[in-house]
Amino acid sequence: MSIKYGFIAVAAVALTATAAVLVQKNVNWQDILTARSLPETSQSVQESPSEAFSSELASVPDKEFSAGGESQTSGQSETEEASKTPVQTEEEWQLILVNSDHAIDQSFKPELSEVQNGYLMDKRVVGNAQRMIQDAREQGVELLVCSGYRSYESQQQHFDSSVQSLKNSGYTEAAAIASTQQLIARPGTSEHQTGLALDIVTPSYQGLDDGYAETDAAKWLLKHAAEYGFILRYPKDKEEITKISFEPWHYRYVGKQAATEIMEEGICLEEYFEK
Ligand SMILES: [Zn+2]
Repeated sequence: MSIKYGFIAVAAVALTATAAVLVQKNVNWQDILTARSLPETSQSVQESPSEAFSSELASVPDKEFSAGGESQTSGQSETEEASKTPVQTEEEWQLILVNSDHAIDQSFKPELSEVQNGYLMDKRVVGNAQRMIQDAREQGVELLVCSGYRSYESQQQHFDSSVQSLKNSGYTEAAAIASTQQLIARPGTSEHQTGLALDIVTPSYQGLDDGYAETDAAKWLLKHAAEYGFILRYPKDKEEITKISFEPWHYRYVGKQAATEIMEEGICLEEYFEK
């Protein structure tokens, strides 16, 4: 499959049996992200250690996903500071593209900080996310984070256990992998590993299904998330491009400028890079 990214820099670096690929816009390379050769899928799948997995994590907080028990006492001052200064300037790290064709390296791990209820994300984005949550609350809308950063290893574990359980029930290795890929993103292809993605629901509706799109929280996010630099990452009418099913709860930080453009034009991140 050959997607032309126009003026976007695309580079590949061979690393042992892997190739590193990072797609960015108007910028230099910051990190080398390893892309593994991945089979193409023509079908939409749920993004990464699947959303069923994330609800499991919500009820059983994993150490990996908690901020070590420290409460975010600085949240308020960060919020105030964030409202005084514009959302961070556009920088390359915000525009990382991760999808089934662009994987990130196992070693990729951003510096993390807690955003809400033990969920972590890239610490550079936490202030924006918390300001968004605070502003929504002031307007009568409760936003509840149910997934943030997820490590490569946790995704690998989840993927492998699915493959194993299918093999135990009689699948061949190849069939077990193919079947698992329909439900769980391969390690390295989950946007959650970037630390820039959040799954956000609301206390009165925590189901990860299309019905969430009808809630006040989902509607508020659709209307306001770009003001804080976030986009709806997997829109309903872009499933063929993103190869991910509609996820009204999954928001991705890209910076205010890109977010405004993407949301106003009703495009997805892949299309933004093609412009
Ligand atoms: Zn998600």
